[in-house]
Amino acid sequence: MLVNAIGNAPPTQFAAPPEDKAASPVLREKVFGLPVDRDILFTDDHNVYQAPVEKRQRQWIVKLSFLKAFLLSGERILRITSARSPMKWYLQLFTGGVFLGMENAFLVFTTYRILHIPTGSDYAYRQSIAQVRYRDIRRIRLRWRTLEIDYKNGRSERFSGVALRERKKIKQLLPALPLVKQVLQPVGRRHLCPRCGAVLSERKMSCRRCELPFKTKGMAGMMAFLFPGGGHFYTRLYYPGLVFSVLEGLLMALLVTVGASLVPVNEYRVLIIVGIVLGLSAVKAVGWRHAGHFLEQYIPRSSRLGRWSPDSARDRSVQ
Ligand SMILES: [Zn+2]
Repeated sequence: MLVNAIGNAPPTQFAAPPEDKAASPVLREKVFGLPVDRDILFTDDHNVYQAPVEKRQRQWIVKLSFLKAFLLSGERILRITSARSPMKWYLQLFTGGVFLGMENAFLVFTTYRILHIPTGSDYAYRQSIAQVRYRDIRRIRLRWRTLEIDYKNGRSERFSGVALRERKKIKQLLPALPLVKQVLQPVGRRHLCPRCGAVLSERKMSCRRCELPFKTKGMAGMMAFLFPGGGHFYTRLYYPGLVFSVLEGLLMALLVTVGASLVPVNEYRVLIIVGIVLGLSAVKAVGWRHAGHFLEQYIPRSSRLGRWSPDSARDRSVQ
C-alpha cells in the first residue's frame, strides 16, 4: 500500500525534522484575533493538517474571542476542547446528574497554562474563567475522557467529558507541556477576575485589583432558606431554580394539606409532618450546596462589569 510505504520510510529520513516536509515556515498567526499555533491547533495526533479539525477548532475559538483580554504577551493557544467542570461526587449524586449540562466548559491549552472556562450547556461565556499553570501541575493525564490533574499543593481535580475527537491530540500534547520540577509557591486552579484579569484570592469574594464584587455562598444560603429555589435564582441559574422551587412548593403544599387536615391527631400524622419537614430541609440544603458550587466559579454580583483600566484605578487613588 502506498500509504504504508510512505509511513514506513527508511530510518535515515526520520532524522529530518518534521517541518522540512512542509515548505512553509512555522506560522505564528492569529485566528479571530487570538494568537495561535496552527501547527498544533489544526493538526491530528500525527501532526498532519486536518480540515475537520480546523473547522471544529474555529467554531470553538469564535466563542472564545474574549480571551484576547486574558492572554499574556507571547502566550499562544495550542488546542481547545470541550469538557466538564470539576464537580464534587455528592452533588452529582444528590442532583442525579439532572443538571450535568450546566457543568459544560472549555479547556484551552496555551503555551503557559490551561484556561478553564465554565460555560453551561450553550457553551457561552458567563464571565467566569480560571487558570491552571503548567508549573503548578505535578502530574497530568487523560484517562478515557477524564483529564486528571494532581497539583503540587496536594490537591487533585478531574475534568470529565473531554471531547472524544480531541482525545488523541491531547494525549499527544500532555507529555510535551512545560511542567517544571520545583516551584516556590505552588497553587491549584485559580479563577481570574473577568474585568481586569487579576488572579482572584480563594477567600476573598472581590477582586483585589479592581474591587469587582462577586456573589457569596452566605447570601445564597439565606436566599435558599427564605425562598423556594432562592439559592439558584440568586446565582442566576434559572432552570435548576425552577426545578427546586417546584419541588419545594409541592412539599410545602403537602405539609399544609396534612397539617390542616381534619383527620384527628395521631402519631402517624405527626410522623408524616416530621418527614415532610425533613424532606424540605434536605431539598433546601441540596439546592444551597448546588448553587454554592457555581458560586465557586466567581459570578460577578452585577452582570454588567463596566470598564476598568489601570489608569482609572490610578486616577481614583490620586483623588
Ligand atoms: Zn479585577
